[in-house]
Amino acid sequence: MTSQFRRRLVVAGLAWPLSRSAFAQPLTCGTATPPETEGPFFKPRSPRRASLLEASAQSRLIVRGQVLSPECRPVANVLLDFWHADESGEYDNQGFRYRGHQFTDAEGRYRLETIVPAEYPGRARHIHVKLQAPKKNILTTQLYFPGDPGNRRDALYLPELAMRMTVPGAGQFDFVIEA
Ligand code: FE
Repeated sequence: MTSQFRRRLVVAGLAWPLSRSAFAQPLTCGTATPPETEGPFFKPRSPRRASLLEASAQSRLIVRGQVLSPECRPVANVLLDFWHADESGEYDNQGFRYRGHQFTDAEGRYRLETIVPAEYPGRARHIHVKLQAPKKNILTTQLYFPGDPGNRRDALYLPELAMRMTVPGAGQFDFVIEA
C-alpha cells in the first residue's frame, strides 16, 4: 500500500486494519437454532427409528440435514427425537405413531422419513423435535413448511425454522446447537 493511498483512507475516515486478525471473522454457522415450546404432546421413550412411515402413508415427506456446532463443525451422535400430528391433525398419545428418535452419523447428518402432518386448530403445520449432543443441554424446537398459509396465522411460527423444500416432499434443515 502506498503512503499516498493510506493517507487517502485516513482522510476518508477509514481505519486500515493493521493486521490480518482484524479481517478474521470467526467462522460461524449463524445463530443457534431458536428454541420453541414443547407443546402438550411430547412423550418420552419413543422408539429408535428413522422412518415413521406406515404402509398406507399418503403425502410422504423426507427431512434431511446436518447438525452443526456454532463453529460449523458437524456434530456426531446427536439425539434427534421427532414427533408430529398425523394426517388428521391428531397426536398418538397412547402409542408411538409419528414418534421416533435417531442419532446423527459421523458427519452430523440425519434423515427422517415420515408424512406431511396435518394442521390442527390454532397451529401451522409443524414437526416437533428435541436435539441433544452428548452431555449437552436439550434444544426443543419445531420445524415449519415454507409458504404454508397457516404460518401467517400462527404466532409461534418463525421463518428461521422453516425447512427448505428442495423438491415437493423433501425438506432440508440444518440445526446449529451447543456442542
Ligand atoms: Fe404440535
